[in-house]
Amino acid sequence: MTNDKPKIALITGSSRGLGKNTALTLAKKGVDVIVTYHNSEVEANNVVSAISSIGAKAVALKLDTSNMKTFDGFVEQVRHSLKDQWQTDHFDFLVNNAGTGLYAPFAETTEDDFDHLMNIHVKGVFFLTQKLLPLINDGGRIINISSGLSRFTLSGYAAYATMKGAIEVLTRYMAMELGARQIAVNVVAPGAIATDFGGGSVRDNPEINSFIASQTALGRVGLPDDIGGAITALLSEDSKWINAQRIEVSGGQFI
Ligand code: NDP
Repeated sequence: MTNDKPKIALITGSSRGLGKNTALTLAKKGVDVIVTYHNSEVEANNVVSAISSIGAKAVALKLDTSNMKTFDGFVEQVRHSLKDQWQTDHFDFLVNNAGTGLYAPFAETTEDDFDHLMNIHVKGVFFLTQKLLPLINDGGRIINISSGLSRFTLSGYAAYATMKGAIEVLTRYMAMELGARQIAVNVVAPGAIATDFGGGSVRDNPEINSFIASQTALGRVGLPDDIGGAITALLSEDSKWINAQRIEVSGGQFI
């Protein structure tokens, strides 16, 4: 990631967890970042400060990926930030990472729960990406975030995993249609990672943590660094021919 001008990445949900780690890891490689947050403004500003101290540039914008009506306003804010901070109209990398989980048996999942997940994980990614397309440089990259749960099956994740399955299909269609602009699109599927996700259960519940470690070839649960590093590698110049792929980053979970 050298070239003359620094690349710019927009990472949804980068106030915490995997998005934050990806932002900091990219910044260490000289990539500037548009951070987005939903509720965690203070955390997002801390990410911006951390990126500045690494020597890269960042701004934080508020975004609710479940609310399509706000997307035009968000895109305008991105446009202004690009002009003000970078004197450009375009950015290079979009990482569709923002998301929440739901643990509920299939028989008890409500339509409201389903719709909420659908909005954040599928409809939001579909239409936000569509609206951001004119701002992405030709030759840019898009990474969507799925889950190991789209390959293996654990009770309680029917609705959540259904959304992640959808994003994997969408990834191939995006890759097909955006190839004309030399935009590569891939989907990263993390295994269980120790973040705040799902109430922090992978990190904080010793039974869940050791069960997952026992079912993982490399013998532990994932850490944010495992994912931020993999996404950064995928966005590097060396990975430019990787396109339309599902890349699972799970240490070999449930193989
Ligand atoms: P965290 O709970 O740690 O962080 C979630 C991030 O998403 C936060 O920055 C949060 O913003 C943001 N966010 C949540 N809801 C919205 C919304 N409606 N609009 C915009 N932003 C929102 O989760 P992770 O970092 O662990 O998860 C990130 C992604 O990785 C998700 O897509 C998740 O499904 C996926 N994943 C996670 C795994 C795990 O085990 N952790 C495993 C497999 C996939 P804020 O705090 O500002 O509200």
